[in-house]
Amino acid sequence: MSVIKELRDHFAEIMSLNYARAALNWDQEVNMRNYKSLDGKAKQISLLSKLIHQRETSDKVGKLIKQAEKISDLNEIDSALLRETKREYDLATKLPEKLVTEIAETSIKASGIWREAYTKSDFSLFKEILEKTVELQKEKAEKLATHPDIYSTLIDLYEPGATFDWIANIFNPIKSKIVDVVKKLNSSSDKPDNSILHKNYDINKQFELSFEIIKKFNYDLGYGRQDKSTHPFTTALASEDVRITTRTKEDFLNECIFGTIHECGHALYEMGIKKELHDTLLCEGTSMGIHESQSRLLENIVGRSKEFWAYWYPTFQKYFPENLKNYPMEEFHRAVNCVQPSFIRVNADEVTYGLHVILRFEIEKDMIEGKVHINELPELWNSKMEEYLGIIPPTDKEGVLQDMHWGGGAIGYFPTYFLGSLYSAQIYSKALEANPNLPEDYKKGEFSNLMNYLRENIHQHGSIYRANDLIKRVTGEDLNPNYFFEYVRKKFYPIYKL
Ligand code: ZN
Repeated sequence: MSVIKELRDHFAEIMSLNYARAALNWDQEVNMRNYKSLDGKAKQISLLSKLIHQRETSDKVGKLIKQAEKISDLNEIDSALLRETKREYDLATKLPEKLVTEIAETSIKASGIWREAYTKSDFSLFKEILEKTVELQKEKAEKLATHPDIYSTLIDLYEPGATFDWIANIFNPIKSKIVDVVKKLNSSSDKPDNSILHKNYDINKQFELSFEIIKKFNYDLGYGRQDKSTHPFTTALASEDVRITTRTKEDFLNECIFGTIHECGHALYEMGIKKELHDTLLCEGTSMGIHESQSRLLENIVGRSKEFWAYWYPTFQKYFPENLKNYPMEEFHRAVNCVQPSFIRVNADEVTYGLHVILRFEIEKDMIEGKVHINELPELWNSKMEEYLGIIPPTDKEGVLQDMHWGGGAIGYFPTYFLGSLYSAQIYSKALEANPNLPEDYKKGEFSNLMNYLRENIHQHGSIYRANDLIKRVTGEDLNPNYFFEYVRKKFYPIYKL
């Protein structure tokens, strides 16, 4: 058997264990939201994490890597496979098994405690376990030490190749630019009114409608499903089982509709990976930033476009005649594009969204480097909200407790969200160049030309190309935030009648 085949087989088993672990996580988030104990689940997940770690670090993998490195004529896929295997092996062998299982167990417990603290809006409940989580992530980063600073080491786990400095260089000049755009939009004397989105919308109908939307995007329910969870997410339980979740809020239509479209964008990425890569380390998005570019492209660039609503609005009027029957489509489209400072990141408009991310990026750097004490987080959060967005969250539920990420141990993940927005504008500009009629398609409820473009250029490759290589391949240049600002100006100035 060839060395590459042996590596593939070995990692196919590891992928199966990974998927089994994902199934347990999915079950916890979807079905066990009201359970009083997650101890059994924590043990199972931690055991699976141990088994995965043992297989990843086995001598066999080390030997196979050495043999494979001697092969001079590996094809593109096999050499990417070797690159990812080596990365996985190098990372895993630096971490002691005890730390791996402790992190897994703690993150399950912390997720449960976060949910309680979030529901009760009581940060004090979450403090202790968050402190432990941060300590464990710090220890992990010190052991991995892929970069001189620990925050970059953690960032690299989600956005391979990225560092704190690289991201800060992109984010820093943008901060004031976003603030300027928001100011300019708010100077308009004819601003959109989004109160229509806060009328009462039957939650069962919202959920039903969300299925119509994902089916139109060609999300195949034969290879996935949609459920409800506290925080929406996408997860693969096998190469051909990619699930999404959403949530509904009676007095805010956006949560379910745009949450669903967002996760659908993530799912279509994974569902579009070519079969040849199934059950390998290449069968996932190449970075969280690129992943997020696919979800935000669908949610914002497509889902909040005039043409999208030209198709969908009559259906929405049928579902919710009491609110929408006599409400003009143009005003509805303006409402879903209302730009205003708000507390919740996932519901933030496209323009202010970046500020929510930059705030977290700055806070988590200080948190992991011990420059801010856990006790001080709510206050630091609120003061940065005031500085960047001019508003102070009235409760911690609307402030520091709103995201589940830190509880789950995901530190270094947040910046990828805004990288996603930036990538999406750049990728979409090329998609439009290649297919200038895309917006006309949306008016007819037709999304296959867009999907074909994304499948061809992004999805099918899984993680064969690293994010920076992929963006260069697709757009001919490195990540360039100007595309985002151009998109914002072109779209929002007319909406704000400027
Ligand atoms: Zn996302």
